Amino acid sequence: MHDRIIPVFIPFMGCAGKCIYCNQSVITSTPDTEIEFEKQLIQAEKNTFQAQIPFQIGFYGGTFLEIKDYYFSQIILFLNKISKNEKFMGIRFSTTPESVCRNLSRILLLKRFNLKLVELGVQTFNEDILKKIGRKTTKEDIDNSIKLLASHDIKWVYQVMPGLPSENFQEFYKLCDYYFSNYPPEYIRIYPLLVFKNTELERQYRKGLYVPLSMEESICYVKALYLLARKKKIGILKIGIHPEKSVFQSCVAGPLSGHLKEMMKGSIIVDWIMNKIQENTRFIEIHISSQFQSWIRGDKCAVLKSISDLGIKYKIISTEKDNNNLIALKIHTYNDKIIKKIIGHWEEICESSRKLVLNSLVLREQ
Ligand code: SF4
Repeated sequence: MHDRIIPVFIPFMGCAGKCIYCNQSVITSTPDTEIEFEKQLIQAEKNTFQAQIPFQIGFYGGTFLEIKDYYFSQIILFLNKISKNEKFMGIRFSTTPESVCRNLSRILLLKRFNLKLVELGVQTFNEDILKKIGRKTTKEDIDNSIKLLASHDIKWVYQVMPGLPSENFQEFYKLCDYYFSNYPPEYIRIYPLLVFKNTELERQYRKGLYVPLSMEESICYVKALYLLARKKKIGILKIGIHPEKSVFQSCVAGPLSGHLKEMMKGSIIVDWIMNKIQENTRFIEIHISSQFQSWIRGDKCAVLKSISDLGIKYKIISTEKDNNNLIALKIHTYNDKIIKKIIGHWEEICESSRKLVLNSLVLREQ
């Protein structure tokens, strides 16, 4: 059973500046005033009393390791209190790589409260793009922060943000591949860039200086990262941001969806199906457990549409819950004979899609 995460939102607290896309008060639904901070701690404490299952405390929305001494000491008092609760399992927080390098003493103090995970808000491993989005993070900061965490036996997460200005898919993929291989995190968190009201990015977007990813492009990025992480046995913490009402109201442009993960999985299934169908295929039966059907029926049935666009008819047949044989395909030819019954396991389906992604990277480079 996973621990419940009780969040404490600290929008912009500790941040050296404002990244051009950032509107944390919208994403966290928390006004960005430090007065809110005490309310957040009181609410989190109440939530710990009501917790029925083991929980961790997660501090999100700012640069946790750089918050002012006054607030940091309040957090330590808070953690001292709640760590007496037998359901308390530990803490996690998000912060920038450079803040990790500067705050070893804070990290060591937090280790006393069972520090489970540090979420590194790297967004991209490309130094030039980091500068463009208002970050002071260097490659050295990223490397040193990871080495420091590893040397203290602390697990970390890479938060990555596809769609940043001037980003190039191949370059992005190559750098992620390098870091996932050489400095493997425990998890990754993927959230494609959205344009929010009242940000510098909104200004750039309105002037035509920034073009956000389309939904299709964002699914390509997310899929490539998801498949790469799976291959490297790295967990996926989350895909996309939580679809709060405030997010929908404040998002001006970009690939916003509350179902990005399902759409991405649908796209992986399409890759696999496309690989299996033959020139004379005119009908396919897709046998799939109802628990996974949202993957292919979601986003106005985009997955199924791409099959019918090829002139192929389909029928979906619900199967028993079966985590091993996720999907079974029966392919009919023109003479209506069932010529093939193909069983796809999720592992194999992902591998087939990953190869397609890699091929497309090679093609783009040519
Ligand atoms: S460091 Fe994180 S929280 Fe702070 S402004 Fe940048 S994106 Fe927002």
